[in-house]
Amino acid sequence: MASLFSVHNGFSTLFWEATWLNDLPLKEVFPDLYDISRLKYVSVAAMGGWKEGMWVWGDFGLSAREVEVLCLEAVYEEFIGWLEDFVDWKEGRDSVEWKDSEEKVFTVASCYNFYNNLRLHYGPANRNDEAFELLWKLDVPFKIKAFGWRLFRDRLPVKELLKNRGIPIPLDDLNCSFCDNSLESSSHLFFSCLVVKNIWSEIANWVGKGDRVDVECLSNFMDWHLFFRSKKVKVRKLGVVWLATTWIIWLVRNGACFRKDEWNVNNTVWNIKHLVWRWSFCGKITHPNYSLYEFCKDPLHFLS
Ligand SMILES: [Zn+2]
Repeated sequence: MASLFSVHNGFSTLFWEATWLNDLPLKEVFPDLYDISRLKYVSVAAMGGWKEGMWVWGDFGLSAREVEVLCLEAVYEEFIGWLEDFVDWKEGRDSVEWKDSEEKVFTVASCYNFYNNLRLHYGPANRNDEAFELLWKLDVPFKIKAFGWRLFRDRLPVKELLKNRGIPIPLDDLNCSFCDNSLESSSHLFFSCLVVKNIWSEIANWVGKGDRVDVECLSNFMDWHLFFRSKKVKVRKLGVVWLATTWIIWLVRNGACFRKDEWNVNNTVWNIKHLVWRWSFCGKITHPNYSLYEFCKDPLHFLS
């Protein structure tokens, strides 16, 4: 169904993106690890080196701490297992075979079938795939990106998810921690809850954005992203308001859920603005030494 790379010296086979170790590219078998790897589009040979006649893999552009924060240790173990099993190094350049043709050589017919199958099986790329790439680029602490990633992948421990995993929660406690009116799913808690919509609407008003609310997480992220892009906000700042808003909503929710903390929309909105101001000093900044007060009057100016 696709081209299959046969690794010899590993210099011309893409480590994550090509099909060489098994029937699928590693980025499809281990998408979570691919998301956080800093070494994309590099060859197999670039991922390690020879030491006293033995091949030794490097770190694959992955940080142990990030793997731990995202609870990917088991996935990582499996990934390493796959790679340690690979011993087929040979002299000379890597070669490509077409799995579709019986003779394993390139023919126009096999190429045609390959593209046809691609279209049938995979369809067009998801228009929101870009969101993941944008998220990892942002100038915010890693902990926050990890939170955003879990929200994108619907892996935050909201009540719906806990219930689906069979964790016992009393039925009367499954409702949204804010409105107590709907099942607490991730899309309700962060986007469609009427209480939370007030917070989004204040933030939208603050930056001069229209009040449209997309209840699907990635579409919502991209909607805000496109708004900030149209305002010439820097690439590394494009998602910070969105992340600050969802992160503070999550903290307020946890306080209300576990400690019965008091909260209100005004304080929450203020906390979001304060956080965006603090993060505006992460990474390269073009306007140093501005106060929270100045920032709040014209946030787009300081993020651009
Ligand atoms: Zn609600």
